[in-house]
Amino acid sequence: MIQNRSQQLYAQACNLIPGGVNSPVRAFQAVGGTPFFIAKGEGAYLIDVDGNRFIDYVCSWGPLILGHAHPEVVEVASQVLRLGSSFGAPSPWEVDLAQLIVEGVPSVEMVRMVNSGTEAVMSAVRLARAYTNRDLVVKFAGGYHGHSDGLIVQGGSGIATLGITTRPGIPQAIAEMTLTLPYNDLEAVERAFQLYGERIAAVIVEPIAGNMGVVPPKPGFLEGLRRLTKGSGSLLIFDEVITGFRVSYGGAQALYGVLPDLTCLGKIIGGGFPVGAFGGPREIMKLVAPLGPVYQAGTLSGNPVAMACGATTLRILRTTDPYGRLEKLGVRLAEGLREAAREAGIPVTVNRVGSMLTVFFTEGPVENFDDANRSDKQQFSRFFWGMLERGVYIPPSQFEAWFVSLSHSEKEIERTVEAAREVFRHLR
Ligand SMILES: *Cc1c(COP(=O)(O)O)cnc(C)c1O
Repeated sequence: MIQNRSQQLYAQACNLIPGGVNSPVRAFQAVGGTPFFIAKGEGAYLIDVDGNRFIDYVCSWGPLILGHAHPEVVEVASQVLRLGSSFGAPSPWEVDLAQLIVEGVPSVEMVRMVNSGTEAVMSAVRLARAYTNRDLVVKFAGGYHGHSDGLIVQGGSGIATLGITTRPGIPQAIAEMTLTLPYNDLEAVERAFQLYGERIAAVIVEPIAGNMGVVPPKPGFLEGLRRLTKGSGSLLIFDEVITGFRVSYGGAQALYGVLPDLTCLGKIIGGGFPVGAFGGPREIMKLVAPLGPVYQAGTLSGNPVAMACGATTLRILRTTDPYGRLEKLGVRLAEGLREAAREAGIPVTVNRVGSMLTVFFTEGPVENFDDANRSDKQQFSRFFWGMLERGVYIPPSQFEAWFVSLSHSEKEIERTVEAAREVFRHLR
């Protein structure tokens, strides 16, 4: 694998940008080595500036469920762009995407568009606090809800990848507003409600954890959260920034039949452009400014290009209903990886829901962040580089999800399993 141009750019970037990257997970810090710089994406493939070609399972960390540069998305982006890139006034594309979201996500009656998942969660938490007139928020260790002050405490994704455990820059008083509990541990949540019940504004959860690696909810966990929040008068917030329109058209809430009070969205709903959204019942959403007193705003919110590309993506998903196909590809990939590891005698746990999965280098089971953390990270790094050398790009961290897109075919899945078979053999 040639990396001349990438290494040149990386050296230059490191002089100009902290760590050479604009989001920490893009640096290859956890796996050693230096990141490659991308020249373009084509369907299921990424091509770097040195001409290396990779089957891509990062898919921009989740948004690209249709793959890179999907022709309909490219067409709509250029059409809208010719009309202007931002108006700072309402436009039809916002109404269109809002309509699609309200029709698609069972618990959402009204939705507000923002520019990132971080903003969506930050605003949803503010709204929950205003609605309940309470201050504490419960989250789960290894859950990632964007990088707002109160929520990066014991966070997953890049925070877990870099092993950051302190919280420089976050005042004690703010950190104390967040209670962090183990994922999938309903008893811990019950105890928290016994101790702090009347102070808990909301429980926020990734209904399928994606940022400690993929960890599905145990049967009854989400139902339990629903019951406990309802019983205490606090709100249940599903952070569906990854799972929305990914695990089913209606997200994890439709898949499991558990409806939250508020839902945070992002990633897929922007069709590859910066986006986020939060929504819920009219009764709660009417508190959001200008209808109500909970302030929230954005110069570029509801950006016409992002709205149009998001709406195009959702329409394709709605009309083609590809979730059965994604499930089949996901099953084949997970089974192939398990079998390849078994042949080589490497203990792994492959967690998967639909088209999102993670290979943990541990016997398992992996049901929470502590379990995920027992993974052999050195072995993961060797696996990562072995796969990359064989033309397969998986997330450069043990604590991230792989994503299969609709541009991945059986051919890419088989090539990936073949590559993994070789790499597992070398790991022995
Ligand atoms: C990616 C992600 C976010 C943050 O979204 P950004 O657009 O990166 O700010 C929040 N929650 C979850 C579950 C995510 O995966």
